[in-house]
Amino acid sequence: TFRLSSELEAEKYRVLKTAFGFDAFRPGQEPVIDAVLAGNDVLAVMPTGAGKSLCYQAPALVLGGLAVVVSPLIALMDDQVAGLRLDGVQAEAIHSGKSREDNVASWRRVASGEARLLYLAPERLMTARMLAALGRLPVSLVAIDEAHCISQWGHSFRAEYLALGEARAALPKARMIALTATADQSTRDDIVAKLFDGRAETFVAGFDRPNISIAVQDKRDTGEAIERFVAARPDQSGVVYRISRKKVDDTAARLQSAGVKALAYHAGMDAAARAAAQEAFLAERGVVMVATVAFGMGIDKADVRYVVHGDAPGSLEAYYQEIGRAGRDGEPAEALLFYGLEDIRTRRRFIDEQDAAPERKRVESRRLDALVGFCETTACRRQALLAYFGEVSPPCGNCDVCLDPPEVIDATEEARLLLTLASATGERFGAAHIVALAVGHESETVTARGHDRLDGFGKGPDRPAAEWRAILRQLVACHALEVETGAFGGISLTEKGRLILVGEERVSVAKPRPKKRERRRAMVA
Ligand code: ADP
Ligand code: ZN
Repeated sequence: TFRLSSELEAEKYRVLKTAFGFDAFRPGQEPVIDAVLAGNDVLAVMPTGAGKSLCYQAPALVLGGLAVVVSPLIALMDDQVAGLRLDGVQAEAIHSGKSREDNVASWRRVASGEARLLYLAPERLMTARMLAALGRLPVSLVAIDEAHCISQWGHSFRAEYLALGEARAALPKARMIALTATADQSTRDDIVAKLFDGRAETFVAGFDRPNISIAVQDKRDTGEAIERFVAARPDQSGVVYRISRKKVDDTAARLQSAGVKALAYHAGMDAAARAAAQEAFLAERGVVMVATVAFGMGIDKADVRYVVHGDAPGSLEAYYQEIGRAGRDGEPAEALLFYGLEDIRTRRRFIDEQDAAPERKRVESRRLDALVGFCETTACRRQALLAYFGEVSPPCGNCDVCLDPPEVIDATEEARLLLTLASATGERFGAAHIVALAVGHESETVTARGHDRLDGFGKGPDRPAAEWRAILRQLVACHALEVETGAFGGISLTEKGRLILVGEERVSVAKPRPKKRERRRAMVA
């Protein structure tokens, strides 16, 4: 979209070949590099492994002068500097993990103009002294890696990143590029607002990981279902995510007693035990890591064959990042998510109970809606996932929906029965209770409240409870019902729910299907 001068164009390819030894740009890299070279402020959103580094390293060399790279982790800085030096590019890092003498020596090479790139932590860049010193050097580019850390809405907010909002003003002549692997629309907007005053060229590229098959299953007897899934894949490395430490320990113990080489990992374990588990997972074959989300940052194991979510993840962003740990070698891999309304209720409660501004709660609530939509979609799941990241794609042929499309049926009558029951019981009872009423299950709670005498009681005996639950979940997904976050998780009717109840709107849902034991396995094989 940008026309570069022919010299810049030629120089770009020369740098690619001679400095980095690559024959071609990867998809997504070139437009970003062109935009930087053309002088724009740029936000590049690319998944891990896509080659973000080249997007600022190549312009740094083409533009000449000094490029300042902001990075949050010392280990990442050192890796990058080592990699660049291997390529014969003079790069330096100044950080608290090095001796004073080493840092002074690095700065000398920067100040003398020898160094092409300088890696710094955000708090070090934004000191008055550093900015003044850099102001006397020909800084051509400022690259901000892991830029999502500036967003207080994201899951990896770092307060030090906030100061970077002043970087544009402090180094007015430099071009700026922000890079991140994880950013949904609101995080992106936040990055652009904070770093670029709301104006930047934004590029989103290459989120698809077509070798990972995607499936979502109804959450019932999760422990058993996980065990079956894992046991059917002996000798494969996999990760099983669970929402709490207790569930991690329970699931790991269960798998171990089933003879699986399973390990546990969560923040409640001491550092040594965590390190040992991580080590074993990386070194050995066929190890299954059962973990909370504490596990995975920076784990680069190529042959992870599956990622199972025993509980709903925090958001589609988190989900995408977590399943992305499977199949890095490009070979077929699987992502399986167990999803039930309880999880959504828990997540909603996390959002409601946190001490945060209403705006933030609203954003998080929308993210949760997107997750529910993904879980209940009757179209391709990958399409839904990629669409969330702004990528348009055809149906993938490698998700449960594509491989075994659900039949979409009119469920207006069923919906009305559920809505009637929810309404007649005061919109205070949870999904399990409403479903019990629909199928006519007489329990003490039911009879004690006289709910067995309600009009709708037992009017839906021809569908098993699992099907009613599936219909109810889809009513939540389409916002006809809302799950309250109070102690009982009561479900209440929305405006849309009332319209359905009075017959002014119809509902269609994926036809619930009987649970088949290893349906997925057969599909994937
Ligand atoms: P990210 O930061 O997006 O996770 P990296 O910048 O670390 O990814 O790049 C991932 C790998 O891809 C690196 O090994 C890098 O050398 C390689 N790579 C990047 N760009 C290209 C390219 N144009 N051709 C071949 N390999 C590339
Ligand atoms: Zn699909």
